[in-house]
Amino acid sequence: MDSLEEMLALEGADEVEALFRKAYAVKLEHIGPRVSVRGLIEAGNACAKDCFYCGIRKSNLKVQRYELKEDEMVELARKAKDFGYASVVIQSGEIESEEHTRKIERTVQRIAELNMGITLSLGEQDADVYKRWREAGATRYLLRIETANRQMYARLHPESHSYDRRLKCLKELRKCDYQVGTGVMCALPGESVQNLADAIRFFRDEDVDMIGMGPYIPHPDTPLGVGVELDKERRLITGLKMIAAARITLPKVNIAAATALQALAEDGRERGIKAGANVLMPNVTDVEYRANYQLYAGKPCLNENAGLCRACLDRRLEAIGEKILYGERGDSLRYFERCRNEQR
Ligand code: SAH
Ligand code: SF4
Repeated sequence: MDSLEEMLALEGADEVEALFRKAYAVKLEHIGPRVSVRGLIEAGNACAKDCFYCGIRKSNLKVQRYELKEDEMVELARKAKDFGYASVVIQSGEIESEEHTRKIERTVQRIAELNMGITLSLGEQDADVYKRWREAGATRYLLRIETANRQMYARLHPESHSYDRRLKCLKELRKCDYQVGTGVMCALPGESVQNLADAIRFFRDEDVDMIGMGPYIPHPDTPLGVGVELDKERRLITGLKMIAAARITLPKVNIAAATALQALAEDGRERGIKAGANVLMPNVTDVEYRANYQLYAGKPCLNENAGLCRACLDRRLEAIGEKILYGERGDSLRYFERCRNEQR
């Protein structure tokens, strides 16, 4: 079980379980039986992009668009803090405008005053926008490369969406001194084991601080989602194998157990932790908006408010012997390790 390709090609239930156990042992050694949490704020579903897989893509006219106001986001962050989540993630469709930039800038400043960690996941932006948000107080940024294979990228996006710009954005984020997170979707149509292994090598070569990956889940109102078979267990296992391979390769990075795992199985997130993940992002968005932010079909907890989510999380993690790090920001250990090395 040495090369990435070998790990990711495993099929037998016993071998796959052994891989998960090995990855979990690496997590316990480097991170311990601890899980970091961030409250997820789904800030808006307006998007200028048209990714073929995504339910809130610009051309999906069935979506009722919404946009949270600055005060609403700050209020959600306050609520997250009351729950003991010391960090939030602000995520939305991709919008590039001065008005949006300024709104996020002010929101970040106000949430930073609450002494909370802030991760942004707002897509591709110009370097000066990343810089302004960093200066406002955001310390982490998630921008998935989606696939480490250019041909696959071209199959998943319209021609106007540029792989090179995505790569450039990741470099800009690093220059701005964010903790940089990236990731891919897995279980994509036409994907090979080689594609998956290349993704893990991409994370390693870019020396990322955080990884957010999840299985692709077809959305019926998208070009890619039509006629794709939904074998939930197979998608879930592919997602878990990717987490395990990433943990074994990069012991100190933050790895999220994506909500997409939970969409495929009720205990998907716990299984993600047992395969080596160490971050969870419970949704704190108000229930009234959640249904309008459906990137994929079958999004979980559409009707559960944040309080219910927290109680459920506690119970589930306790059952697998893991402890939630309430009151801690949960920064990437790899980020600090790299900073120390650079100072030497
Ligand atoms: N607009 C921003 C952030 C929101 S989308 C961006 O694109 O970076 C966040 C992530 O959702 C994307 O990176 C993509 O990997 C994931 N996603 C979108 N559609 C999906 C689907 N059908 N199944 C699984 N993940 C999906
Ligand atoms: Fe927009 Fe992100 Fe969805 Fe692409 S994945 S359509 S950028 S929200």
